[in-house]
Amino acid sequence: MPMTLEAVRELDRWDPLATFKARFALPDGEIYLDGNSLGAQPLASREAVVSTLDQWRDELIKGWNQGWFDAPERLGNLMAPLIGAGQGEVIVTDNITLNLFKLLGYITESQGRQRPVILSEGGNFPTDGYIAQGLCRFAGYEHRVLPEGAALVDYLDDRVAAVVLSQVHYRTGRLRDMAATTQLVHEHGAEIVWDLAHSAGALPVDLHDCGVRYAVGCTYKYLNGGPGAPAFLYVHRDHQAGGWQPLSGWHGHAAPFAFDGDYAPASGITRFRSGTHSALIYAPLEASLRLWQEVDMAALREKSLKMTELFRDCLADLLEAHGIGDITPPPAERGSQVALIVREHGYAIVQALIARGVIGDYREPGLMRFGFTPLYLSYEDVWQAARHFREVVERREYLAPRFQERAEVT
Ligand SMILES: *Cc1c(COP(=O)(O)O)cnc(C)c1O
Repeated sequence: MPMTLEAVRELDRWDPLATFKARFALPDGEIYLDGNSLGAQPLASREAVVSTLDQWRDELIKGWNQGWFDAPERLGNLMAPLIGAGQGEVIVTDNITLNLFKLLGYITESQGRQRPVILSEGGNFPTDGYIAQGLCRFAGYEHRVLPEGAALVDYLDDRVAAVVLSQVHYRTGRLRDMAATTQLVHEHGAEIVWDLAHSAGALPVDLHDCGVRYAVGCTYKYLNGGPGAPAFLYVHRDHQAGGWQPLSGWHGHAAPFAFDGDYAPASGITRFRSGTHSALIYAPLEASLRLWQEVDMAALREKSLKMTELFRDCLADLLEAHGIGDITPPPAERGSQVALIVREHGYAIVQALIARGVIGDYREPGLMRFGFTPLYLSYEDVWQAARHFREVVERREYLAPRFQERAEVT
């Protein structure tokens, strides 16, 4: 039996995270279920950007010595507690795509190029596979694909140098067992790079506890760093002296301002820098990461699971009646999203919802994704979003011609 609006409001009254919502700038009348693609704006991020602009105006080049230059390491240290890493193990720089290239190149170099295969998962977010392919082409390695749903153990052998997997799958929201998988890969003498794009800020992540040596993730999704906010890269402290990473630029040099003719990697996590970063784009992310320091991740997880369950419960009978599949994994294996599959009209349903102010997204083929971000969504938001979904489907609003047209970014 779906919950009543009264009961849902009662949940909001007792929600320990409820006060965070007031610290985000959210458009009036919108219910934002797309924080898994681009997080909402913390109020503090506007001031942070403006003050960085002022700093540029007033301090000019001196700004680099006033917090701009060391932002990748400083923000890395703010990221660390959110993913169970230590100080000096995380750097915030570039994007996932480039960081994956750096780590895969670094790993193969540190193994002495003994193993010729890079394994990535089919059906995952494509950039991870593209980068594996690109590196293999460039360096003469072999790219192997783990088909979606196949057992990893069947694809590991003594030729595999490195594996790239997502902790939470971007389409289905399935959460992998990070500790067991990491151990399995290490037992086969290979390394694993975890992609935390859909887990950092979505649930408690403990890299140390899971024995993880390498990871990447982005900050513009659940972490609310802003469009194009820089990604993070993690290397366990015992594995930071393995050699060069392939994008060996001057910011990752041991002495960047010595302007030596030859490259020598910096010690520690700094060697994973490449070139000059934008001080402006670090400003809103730093404001957001400071807010995140206050978040109780266990409470976040509890609310996230309650919200996804509430949404599914409110819609269960409707989905069944209309042949819409709910492929959301069970709670223990779930990220922070609900994934619904429909044979036809998925794109139009999402467009009709957007017209009503409920923002989700659509991914081919047939997948409607709804992300649940406990910091700025209330239980009532979730309940109202489900009500809109029901009305769009029951009234067949999605059949209107204006909902069939495709935009460039969906
Ligand atoms: C969003 C996402 C990315 C994004 O990569 P960028 O290089 O930051 O554009 C990568 N991997 C996964 C799994 C993602 O979900």
